[in-house]
Amino acid sequence: MADDGSSSTRRVPCLQCGGHGVIYNSQIEVGRFGHIEICPCIDCQCGGRPPHMYWDEQSQRRWCDCATPRRRLTHIKELFKLAEVPTRFRYKLRDDFDTSAPDGTSLAVASRVSPILQYLTALVDDDRDPPRGYLLHGPPGTGKTLLSCIILNELLLHRARPGRLISLSRKFFQQIRDTYSQESEQYGRSYQILDELCKIPYLVLDDFGVQRGTDWETEMLYDLIDARYGEENFTVVTTNQSMQEIEAISDGRVLSRLVEMCYVVPMDGQDYRQFMIS
Ligand SMILES: [Zn+2]
Ligand SMILES: [Zn+2]
Repeated sequence: MADDGSSSTRRVPCLQCGGHGVIYNSQIEVGRFGHIEICPCIDCQCGGRPPHMYWDEQSQRRWCDCATPRRRLTHIKELFKLAEVPTRFRYKLRDDFDTSAPDGTSLAVASRVSPILQYLTALVDDDRDPPRGYLLHGPPGTGKTLLSCIILNELLLHRARPGRLISLSRKFFQQIRDTYSQESEQYGRSYQILDELCKIPYLVLDDFGVQRGTDWETEMLYDLIDARYGEENFTVVTTNQSMQEIEAISDGRVLSRLVEMCYVVPMDGQDYRQFMIS
């Protein structure tokens, strides 16, 4: 059969980096973590030296194939620094969520989590943004924060767009409150802080509901969630509270908005922490 040449010229995207040229290498050289680096599929001829040019066989000065991936690498490293993921979940990726116990039996949470892990796998060679966020609810210790960090890290690595994790602790609300205090250096910044949180492409709101907050806190969170819905930005919410408890907040407005923008994922079963990869 005659070959029209298209099959030989079509480049199959690299399965590790999806063709963008940046991967996470989990091998630890120093400290606790591996590092983000250029994928082995990139044919670097410049030895990694700026300005990433080299002389070819015809003595022509050429841009190295690594130049664009290296710019992306620098950008992604910066995104990871700004994401405020807790240290113990830094660089946790989809393979770090174990859906089976050490004896090989499947954890109860596996059937809930598998579609999310499959979606994260598809991120590598799919350029579509996530259609909906996730509302992960269940008792403490079922891996909700780990999973939300994995989702965020995968998006940062493969989409190279900004994301952030906000722990909805007393401290977070205090920081926002401080912006109303004239003595604070942050005075008047609340609009700016909330505006940034509305616009950031990927946001994790961790531990929603624990604040059992004042009306002011609840309203602020509702406005934030509602604004992100309007902007069609990706949001992951984790909560230890039941759907009934969330429904009781603001006459159900918060829950109904969350359900519109998120897949609801019950996380229950065994205490996940005992199986967690440290
Ligand atoms: Zn690659
Ligand atoms: Zn190079």
